[in-house]
Amino acid sequence: MADPAPHMTPDEFRRQGTELVEWIASYMERLEDLPVLAQVEPGWVRAQLPDHPPAEGEPWPDIVADLDRVIVPGLTHWQSPNFFAYFPGNATGPSILGDLLSAGLGVQGMLWATSPACTELEQLVLDWLLELTGLPQRFSSKGPGGGVIQESASSANLCALRDLAVRRGAEPARLRAYVSTQTHSSVEKAARVAGLAPRQLEAIDVGPDYAMLPDALARAMAADAAAGLAPCFVAATVGTTSSTALDPVPAIAEVARAHGAWVHVDAAFAGSAAVCPELRFVNDGADVADSWCFNPHKWLLTNFDCSALWVADRAPLLAALSVTPEYLRNASTDAGAVVDYRDWQIPLGRRFRALKLWFVIRHYGAAGLAAHIRSGVALGQELAAWVEADERFELAAPAPLSLVCLRHREGDEATQTIIDAVNGSGHAYVTHTRLDDRLVLRVAIGQARTERRHVEALWEQITALA
Ligand code: PLP
Repeated sequence: MADPAPHMTPDEFRRQGTELVEWIASYMERLEDLPVLAQVEPGWVRAQLPDHPPAEGEPWPDIVADLDRVIVPGLTHWQSPNFFAYFPGNATGPSILGDLLSAGLGVQGMLWATSPACTELEQLVLDWLLELTGLPQRFSSKGPGGGVIQESASSANLCALRDLAVRRGAEPARLRAYVSTQTHSSVEKAARVAGLAPRQLEAIDVGPDYAMLPDALARAMAADAAAGLAPCFVAATVGTTSSTALDPVPAIAEVARAHGAWVHVDAAFAGSAAVCPELRFVNDGADVADSWCFNPHKWLLTNFDCSALWVADRAPLLAALSVTPEYLRNASTDAGAVVDYRDWQIPLGRRFRALKLWFVIRHYGAAGLAAHIRSGVALGQELAAWVEADERFELAAPAPLSLVCLRHREGDEATQTIIDAVNGSGHAYVTHTRLDDRLVLRVAIGQARTERRHVEALWEQITALA
């Protein structure tokens, strides 16, 4: 009788695993020559694969052969040095190996007791990250606060928002939360999930640099308080998605404090810049914010998913998210001696994500991390200068870091033509946004493999199309 569960033996795993790592390494080598944006029509990938699952297991080489046949043509190559779309998502050797190890160990770290190493390594690397970025020690796990790895900034934003009702103890319909017109859509989604009605989330105006106006926030909060409402949460952004505008966190926090509101800072992309001491302006206000998050999975050489969230005081977070059924009780939790990270997030289960961040930090060291960010910022500044020097183009917003927002002076149609031609060519991938209702071409620099020659080639292509 056939083996009812024909598992891959450790020896087969060793062989197939080595081959798959070899496949990934050769993918990395050919990345630059592949068309950055997937060139397939909707439905193409599915049409290449059988409609029904196999009745019997298939030979491993047949499975791997489908990677080149079907999967690679259906990919947009995020790791290409010519990927300038959205924000980068760095996947580097050490982080990939960290994720492989996490899968290999297969632990689920919902409680300290379900794998002490999973919890304690996470606490350690988030404390390390505070030190590497110069964020204040008030977020350290050694005090009343601490850090946690979430799968995304969206989840971090939701966790920060979710506990506001618990904090305020106000009647839910009276709660008011505040964002700017440039805040990432994940905060609006978080508000919906947290049960806030649209009128309970107010979008505050921004200035000409697209940063939130503290005076406008002060007026909105004061008017709400005067109307008997309960202003309780403000989300400030350091590095907005459209243009990396930097909200003035200290002034925002001062306004929020007057109402006892929680200040959450979403620094999803820009927060990584703080590994460079000269870029620590991105940390302004960290000494007064209640929670702070940024994504090593965007710009800090760590593959998705790895979003770091810190709180200065963990008590409100735990009060909002901790639910302990009998089947999860254990001696260490009952003694209050440990951190159970299931209480710091929405889902119960969690992967061993700290491994990849640990590998990345140890592989690159403070100097290597800073060198990566510094090179992206230098390229961004150089591109911004080229744009400013070319009379056919203009910068659509300040470029404080490595995102450059530009447009053709002739208007939206000319800008759109360039975006379409660049993306259609396969040479590079850029995305768009709208600022003041005008189309903007965004060039987000920060891929691990992007060098000056790639940015130069993109600029040559853009100017040739102008
Ligand atoms: N916040 C900001 C400012 C962002 O730019 C983004 C994504 O680009 C997010 C949140 C969402 O990030 P994630 O994909 O980690 O949920």
